[in-house]
Amino acid sequence: MQSATTLICYAWIVLNGAWEAGQLVSLTGREKWDQRDYTICSGTEDDTLDILYRLIPHGLLTPYLVSLREGDPVTVQGPYGRFTVRDPSRPIFFCATGTGVAPCRAFLRSHPNLNLTLFHGVRTPEDLYFREEFASLTYFPFCSREPLDGKQSRLTDALREVTLPEGLHVYLCGANEMIYEAEEILTERGIPSDHLFHEPYYYRAYDEEDDAVKKHSV
Ligand SMILES: Cc1cc2nc3c(=O)[nH]c(=O)nc-3n(C[C@H](O)[C@H](O)[C@H](O)COP(=O)(O)OP(=O)(O)OC[C@H]3O[C@@H](n4cnc5c(N)ncnc54)[C@H](O)[C@@H]3O)c2cc1C
Repeated sequence: MQSATTLICYAWIVLNGAWEAGQLVSLTGREKWDQRDYTICSGTEDDTLDILYRLIPHGLLTPYLVSLREGDPVTVQGPYGRFTVRDPSRPIFFCATGTGVAPCRAFLRSHPNLNLTLFHGVRTPEDLYFREEFASLTYFPFCSREPLDGKQSRLTDALREVTLPEGLHVYLCGANEMIYEAEEILTERGIPSDHLFHEPYYYRAYDEEDDAVKKHSV
């Protein structure tokens, strides 16, 4: 495993066996209870199984993951999960926050003919992972803390306005808060609950600014 940057890391594993786009693996650290889930972000035909993760400096597993070097052994369990493409013939609306964009990349690389629209909400433009790859899609990036193309915006605000095609399936992934809010908006807008699929990753995303505040206050 190798880290691409100090904050957002990209790792790869060689895994034997079949899996479906949208599934995840569980990685284990030094102790068997140091276990966390990561969605595979490569395609089913790719040679490696890739994951995308954010380093949480006070977290249990990610500081260990960034310390790994290529060739270091790591316990990988899986694949698990049902956040997979239910019906590739439907229009898909994918809403992700932060690293929650990982399954969308797996969808794209595994099902190149999907009719997919991506809403990706992040805090700053550097968090728009895979931006170049997504440029071929109907792709809407939103930055809440810094301007992107001169504008700060929130994914859920845009969700209230966007035209939603008939019969679409919606996939929601990342921060629980976004998922709850988006489900409420989409339900109000008439999307039936069996057309909504979600994969919650975390409550309250890690925030470097909170760390900075804590450091200043000690
Ligand atoms: C089904 C599932 C799939 C997941 N897939 C991914 C993935 O593909 N990539 C990924 O980075 N994470 C993913 N996660 C989150 C992941 O399992 C870990 O929680 C995360 O990597 C942090 O691990 P940690 O032990 O270092 O810190 P933890 O002790 O687990 O987390 C500390 C705190 O950091 C915050 N946090 C956790 N994860 C994130 C994140 N990704 N971005 C911002 N803030 C966060 C939360 O507030 C959390 O309480 C997934 C979680 C689930 C349940």
